[in-house]
Amino acid sequence: MDVDAGHGAAFGRALPASTSQETSFTRRLRSLLSFQSNDDDPVAELVRTHRSIHASADVAIVRRSYQIAESMHRGQFRKSGDPYITHPLAVAQICAELGMDTTTLVAALLHDTVEDTSYTLEALQGDFGNEVAHLVDGVTKFDKAYYGKAAEGETIRKMIVAAGKDVRVLVIKLADRLHNMRTLGARSTASRARIATATLDVLVPLCDRLGIQALKRSLDDVVLFHLQPDAYARIDEHVKNRPGWDDYLSDVSHQARIALRRSKVTAEVTPRPRHYYSIWKDTVAGGHDVPLDLPRIAVIVDGPDTDCYAALGAVHGRWRPVAGRFKDFIASPKNNLYRSLHTTVVGPEGRLVEVLIRTKTMHRYSEYGVATSYRYPKVADEPPGADQLTWLKRVLDWQQDTTDAAQFLDSLRCDLAEGQITVFAHGNAYELPSQSTPVDLAYELGPRQGDHCLAATINGRLAPLGSPLRDGDVVEIFSETESQADVEPNAPRGPRKEWLGFVKSSQAQMQINRYFDERNEPGISIADKVRLGRATIGLTLRKHDRGLASEVPLRRLADELGYPDLETLLVAVCERSLEPDAVVEQLIALVDHPD
Ligand code: MN
Repeated sequence: MDVDAGHGAAFGRALPASTSQETSFTRRLRSLLSFQSNDDDPVAELVRTHRSIHASADVAIVRRSYQIAESMHRGQFRKSGDPYITHPLAVAQICAELGMDTTTLVAALLHDTVEDTSYTLEALQGDFGNEVAHLVDGVTKFDKAYYGKAAEGETIRKMIVAAGKDVRVLVIKLADRLHNMRTLGARSTASRARIATATLDVLVPLCDRLGIQALKRSLDDVVLFHLQPDAYARIDEHVKNRPGWDDYLSDVSHQARIALRRSKVTAEVTPRPRHYYSIWKDTVAGGHDVPLDLPRIAVIVDGPDTDCYAALGAVHGRWRPVAGRFKDFIASPKNNLYRSLHTTVVGPEGRLVEVLIRTKTMHRYSEYGVATSYRYPKVADEPPGADQLTWLKRVLDWQQDTTDAAQFLDSLRCDLAEGQITVFAHGNAYELPSQSTPVDLAYELGPRQGDHCLAATINGRLAPLGSPLRDGDVVEIFSETESQADVEPNAPRGPRKEWLGFVKSSQAQMQINRYFDERNEPGISIADKVRLGRATIGLTLRKHDRGLASEVPLRRLADELGYPDLETLLVAVCERSLEPDAVVEQLIALVDHPD
């Protein structure tokens, strides 16, 4: 299945593109006209897609959530000029195509109401229940434009914590970003590049870790489109003009089917085109001038895992394999639990052909990852999805150790970075990010071993604590013991600041920062800043012998001063980018002279 939210295109295209001079009245008129002329039932396609995967789904709730979202967002418009509701509708459509359940679609339709309209989380909870409220709250963000860098970290941390309880939060967030990225056309080149880079930085790797390849391919391509428009255009040109390509692939597939049948392997063989980003990556990595895009087929075996090796035998028996190109991700799954056999063979006419071999179950999980159990709820396969969530749980374990959200984000990025090595220590195997050092390993063994590590041997030889470890190294860590510390009270103790220059794992970074934080000033979170900002305003009001009976005037002031919400204004007060005296003066004016 190709995840494509083409639905948005059904709206607002009947009239010429809007201009910035347009009044909100003509925009509203446009939206009314386009709804009437294009589609009487705006949720028809969503309902159709959802029912095609979940035949007995109750869609009344989907319609009700659409109605609420539509009425809440009425009068709001996307930068493109389309009515705002086209966005949540498109996000719900992406979720539906992934095969997500009804609850996810409801939350997707409502995902921006709390952030952008007067609909409160309490009202939403009352109307749709706790589950939907949790999902919507999980994707409701702190405003980046006002919180600066910390907002990004706080927002992502909040989302990860919410996803730890319910992973559907992340699915909605990814679908949201995909649609936003597809509709960036109305923005400046600089802002498109910024958003694309941020997506590539955290959300694409997150999507990869959750194993949702169907979604990741779409995200990859839209990032490439914004960051490398020329390369994207070249690849597009190449993909659309390759004479004989389809005939060649169907011939290869046909011959593969014959070979498999002769080996008595039941399997489906289909051409498997690469997505643009993957073509681009190989082209750049190989230093090629023209797009490098080998023909590729997928062999989906109907049988047990071992049939994959029988299929491999059949393929290698038919065409000579290229040495060094065989990869067994069944015996050694990737860190997102992706499982398949990969090989490259010298196909007909001497052309290289890539072959992917996997079972039906592996195929489902490789396409949908954590979303698989929603798409195929009745299939009783043991779900590797649970293990994809194990990773998420581990992220949550160390997120509790840091108060600084920016640091959390850095560590998350580091943890998401590809490439893991396995090293052996004290009889156990440990997974670490590549380029990790003995210090990383020491912290993996425990905070105490980390804080007090003194020396290490790698494969039996003494090595500096900053030496990069390699896959398969056998390492021994020597830590200062309590008794040694007692004997030499003046010896340096605890981690060294320089370690931060070479450690690679989030665990080690976090623990070293924690060690120094505990000895310095503790970090301050956005929640703390909001509280401090509120207290500052309270105190300043008291200087004027005034108090506030309700938050309504404060909210109005925040709105008038152009802040996205009250919390943002309170943070600005706490950080003194807004003077509390000035705020209070304006507040008093507002209360004493409304209008
Ligand atoms: Mn959104």
